[in-house]
Amino acid sequence: MAEGMVRLENISKKFANTYAVKELNLDIKTGEFLTLLGPSGCGKTSTLRVIAGFEKPTSGNIWIDGKKVDKIEPYNREVNTVFQSYSLFPHMTVADNVAFGLKMKKVSKQDIKNKVKEALNLVQLENFAARKPKNLSGGQQQRIAIARAIVNNPKVLLLDEPLGALDLKLRKQMQLELKQLQQELGMTFIYVTHDQEEALTMSDRIVIMNQGKIEQTGLPDEIYEKPATKFVADFIGETNLFEGKVMQTNDTYATMECAGQYIIIPNNQNFLENESVYMSIRPEKIKVSAHANDKVKQLKVIMKDEIYIGSVTKIIAAFPDGQEVVAHGSRDIFKRCSQGSQLYLSWEPADSIVFKMKEKLEV
Ligand code: ATP
Repeated sequence: MAEGMVRLENISKKFANTYAVKELNLDIKTGEFLTLLGPSGCGKTSTLRVIAGFEKPTSGNIWIDGKKVDKIEPYNREVNTVFQSYSLFPHMTVADNVAFGLKMKKVSKQDIKNKVKEALNLVQLENFAARKPKNLSGGQQQRIAIARAIVNNPKVLLLDEPLGALDLKLRKQMQLELKQLQQELGMTFIYVTHDQEEALTMSDRIVIMNQGKIEQTGLPDEIYEKPATKFVADFIGETNLFEGKVMQTNDTYATMECAGQYIIIPNNQNFLENESVYMSIRPEKIKVSAHANDKVKQLKVIMKDEIYIGSVTKIIAAFPDGQEVVAHGSRDIFKRCSQGSQLYLSWEPADSIVFKMKEKLEV
């Protein structure tokens, strides 16, 4: 039997010869804010449409609140969807738009009045009930679409890039509002975005998708700090990815050769000598120095550029073979350096995240 609010069991969705979703298994908890995150075409919307019932999966089963819904029509699933295009009826007032689904379900007039008022209150548009959608801003129209989707108190709200059409400032404000609304309602939200910052800010849990499959499911900080695959490390945040070979190993550490330099990595995956690996290191984990230090294992690089981004200065440097590396540092170091200067980089071996190269075959 299903646990939690939504269970996807071995869901595949094939269009012609292409799998949009492949053998996807996922349990979504009651009251959870879960985000499907991934690049364009990875299968996020298809997954959402399968849950809503707009698409029939090629194989697999879906449960909502313990009930198998495979044969249940979309309008009978206790699920509503908010789309990027607000899909409001232009000729109806805000109140009539929000009331529409309740009228179809023959809810009593007084109940409709109360529920519409409550829903408009929740999205802070109680004074806009008599307006037509065209007289509202994009953000207000999306709030109406959200009010319409929560008015009949569905068990699950599906949101497909709902803030995608808004400008950056409004999007950030709406992210906070949506998160607050979700907490207030205690409703299960399944949210689709390709914007990683949005996912990290809003979600209880994030599912990273790639080519129809789940790469990793985790808390926002787990996804960022402990990416499970090279794809996730590369997709989330900024990172430096190096390719190299394991040279020596002991119980705790291994040495990796990369572009003629030696990097110490944690030996947490029983690396074999000569094994090919990828290593990911975040720019903020790298210490940059203008001086060699015998006591620390440093990598020699040549400074190529610096970019001041307010809180930190980004340095772009290159290994002797031309491979670039990005690090964060304080402005002071760079005041004393210029393009072509020798710089020395170091970091804690534990901050290196290493992936066995076999993954290359899957990506
Ligand atoms: P985006 O972020 O661009 O919306 P997505 O991650 O939501 O992408 P989907 O829209 O689910 O991805 O599409 C996954 C794959 O399935 C893509 O290759 C897409 O072209 C294909 N696809 C989706 N819907 C259909 C359809 N109705 N007919 C044929 N192929 C489809």
